[in-house]
Amino acid sequence: METTMNTKKYPPKHMGTMMGHVQPTAFENALKQFEAAAKVIKLTDNQIAVIKEPRRVTEVKLPVRMDDGRIEVFQGFRVHHNIARGPAKGGIRFHPDVTVDEVKALAFWMTYKCAVVNIPMGGGKGGVVVDPSKLSLGELERLARRYMAEMIDLFGPDRDVPAPDVNTGPMVMAWMMDTYSMHFRNFVPSVITGKPLELGGSKGRAAATAQGMVICVREAAKKLNLDLKGATVAIQGYGNAGSNAAKLLREDGCKIVAISDIGGGFYNHEQGIDPDVAIEYVREHKTLKDFERSANVRAYQDPMELLQEPVDILIPAALENQITDSNAPFVKPKIIAECANGPCTFEADAILDKNGVFIIPDILCNAGGVTVSYLEWVQNRMGYYWEADKVQQDLERIMVSAFQDVYDTSQKFNVNMRIAAFIIAIERVTKASEMRGLYA
Ligand code: NAD
Repeated sequence: METTMNTKKYPPKHMGTMMGHVQPTAFENALKQFEAAAKVIKLTDNQIAVIKEPRRVTEVKLPVRMDDGRIEVFQGFRVHHNIARGPAKGGIRFHPDVTVDEVKALAFWMTYKCAVVNIPMGGGKGGVVVDPSKLSLGELERLARRYMAEMIDLFGPDRDVPAPDVNTGPMVMAWMMDTYSMHFRNFVPSVITGKPLELGGSKGRAAATAQGMVICVREAAKKLNLDLKGATVAIQGYGNAGSNAAKLLREDGCKIVAISDIGGGFYNHEQGIDPDVAIEYVREHKTLKDFERSANVRAYQDPMELLQEPVDILIPAALENQITDSNAPFVKPKIIAECANGPCTFEADAILDKNGVFIIPDILCNAGGVTVSYLEWVQNRMGYYWEADKVQQDLERIMVSAFQDVYDTSQKFNVNMRIAAFIIAIERVTKASEMRGLYA
């Protein structure tokens, strides 16, 4: 029997040298954001020590039998950043570029995201170094089940409740829930969220991240006196978050002028792009590759050009570190709505601020996903399921109130929306940690 390590080399995403200098890693970027907010509210060294770094970082090797009989060993991670306010909550990413640094950053952002929208959960995140497009359905299922089985003691409705992230969706959640349930000889839907509706998923979860983002964009537009009717939009990333964002913003009257994904970037400034046509194309072809051959769009030579479109609203909905100090001077939309986690580096923020770009930060902007995940968890624990309008109402109430809190805090401390969001979140996490005290 042949056993191979999954040691394929991919270009490092975070260490990319652009214009000759090394960009910060996602976790370095996260810590800079934290430190800037901690300084404003004069957090003490003791307070910082308790809530800054992740509490637990787990790395596993996941042997999976491939269809041809080989065993391939994948590398997996689960990070618990902070669980003072409730069980760890955060998605599981399947991507070839996953690193422990990235998972630590994503878990960090989950802690503060849950605190910004004030849901009673902490921060966690997981990842597997894998390119799932190269796996068969059976291989994907065995990898998903192995991931859950290998770290089953970490998970649980009151311990750590994962969810989907890049390249994982309801099907993967169903397999993981089944694996957990088989081990405990119980039906335990509340161990994971983002499940199919038939297995205890919540109505409204699939589009929740984009819904939450649109609620934030509407609030931001009011503050900036921007009419969404006819406002132009560019979206990087056309998966769950990006494609739903396109649909929902079009319903608000916006014109989607540019979209991109791993297959390429495309634009039509005059007539705009029909989001449904693009969604159908991706359903059929997996990515937007060659979209210009069947739709009325033109392809960018370099899809990163999309970020420099002079649009009203720019939505990064792909991966981290897309807008750095190298390209930030050329990125000039009125609003950046961060559907992705960590798309702008700390250094880019300073440049964007100077250019008057209004950033709705990730820990607020994409919190609709975890908010409806929380509502899913609540429904699972009650065993009683709500209609879509009840979920939508709760999401709207939570997001509008969080946006207003962050906006007011930014005015009060004269800081940007990101620092304001961290100020609110850090204060909540610190308070909870101090009230609990140190055990033993
Ligand atoms: P997804 O896997 O459904 O989609 C990811 C998209 O990004 C795909 O279209 C992919 O082709 C594209 N992409 C990858 N690399 C790219 C590149 N270099 N340039 C352009 N496009 C690229 O994932 P998703 O769930 O939509 O997540 C997208 C982002 O939103 C991630 O940062 C994720 O952490 C964040 N997010 C998602 C949720 C959620 O509920 N799905 C919640 C909060 C935050």
